[in-house]
Amino acid sequence: MATEIGIDLGTSKTVIFSSSKIVLEQPSMVTVDSETWDPVYYGEMAKNTLGRTPESLICVSPIEHGVIADYDITELMLKEYMQKAFGNKIVRPQIIAAIPAGLTELQHHSLANAVESGGGRNITVIEGPLAVAFGLGIDFTKPHGTMIVDIGAGTTDIAVITLGGISVCDSFKTASNNFDSQIIRYIRKEYNIEIGELMAENIKKTIGAVVERPIDIAMMAKGRNLYTGLPESFEITASEVFEAVSEPAVMICEAIRSVLSRTDPDLVADINKEGIYLTGGGSLIYGMNRLIADYTGTSVHMLEDPTHSVVRGAAEALKHPSMLKNINYQLRSIKELTFE
Ligand code: ADP
Ligand code: MG
Repeated sequence: MATEIGIDLGTSKTVIFSSSKIVLEQPSMVTVDSETWDPVYYGEMAKNTLGRTPESLICVSPIEHGVIADYDITELMLKEYMQKAFGNKIVRPQIIAAIPAGLTELQHHSLANAVESGGGRNITVIEGPLAVAFGLGIDFTKPHGTMIVDIGAGTTDIAVITLGGISVCDSFKTASNNFDSQIIRYIRKEYNIEIGELMAENIKKTIGAVVERPIDIAMMAKGRNLYTGLPESFEITASEVFEAVSEPAVMICEAIRSVLSRTDPDLVADINKEGIYLTGGGSLIYGMNRLIADYTGTSVHMLEDPTHSVVRGAAEALKHPSMLKNINYQLRSIKELTFE
């Protein structure tokens, strides 16, 4: 029997799923030697070095906004993760990899190839939102509109699905990482303090909000005073974070509205009746579902396990090979494409 493996190569995290469970979950990050570009640390270890590397090392995020920014590092990282998850004991692996919707053919090809050289033969690729729809158990045999919104670290994937295919989609380049960068900017401007990326993410996860909280909360944070150059602790409130992240949050809502405005009216009617399915780690910030509901006038369902819905759905899709064949996402057909 072939080993069925699902891979989600996300901007922030790589997740591998096999035998009904998550077998690996690591940041999509590699620390390399700044001269030779040889990898030194992968994943969690690499993320811990973020903002703390000596000159001889660089921390690289090989996936940016859902697409490969550094091909060689992506390939090395995938090899390392496959080895870590399975050792040498994979028997005839059958791999399905989730990719963002709306990639160009070249980006599509490059991602699929990296998975192949990092993982083995027999690879299928599936667009992330479609994988989520498989996971939701949506009936692909009937014409019916379903909207999936996946707010990841570097992209917000927005797609309308019908009959097992994508009707309208956008891989919008504003997502949860933009909340972090806005928090960094806000604190620099209001407090003259520079905070690191990890601190910004921590603030977002702990007290972040895209709608105002009924009761304001606060936390202590640490950074470097830009005037004195010395470390400094300060208090930051949820309402300040709300002010900082409002702009990208609204941009995400506008992008969803724009996809709806390009969608066939009958499909929009289905979505309006059924509600929008919201997933991705970025959807976990307080109030994101409510903000989207307000902007679109449509109810919003949050998926239960938002950081794993893509990889779980992709693995589910492998159980329906006939459906996948219909949609023609076989790597073989991608490889036959030629590029100018
Ligand atoms: P990707 O698929 O792009 O790798 P994920 O769907 O795993 O991304 O989401 C990662 C993003 O979600 C990161 O920017 C992370 O900071 C954010 N995130 C994760 N958990 C939370 C949380 N509890 N609150 C707010 N943001 C979160
Ligand atoms: Mg993702």
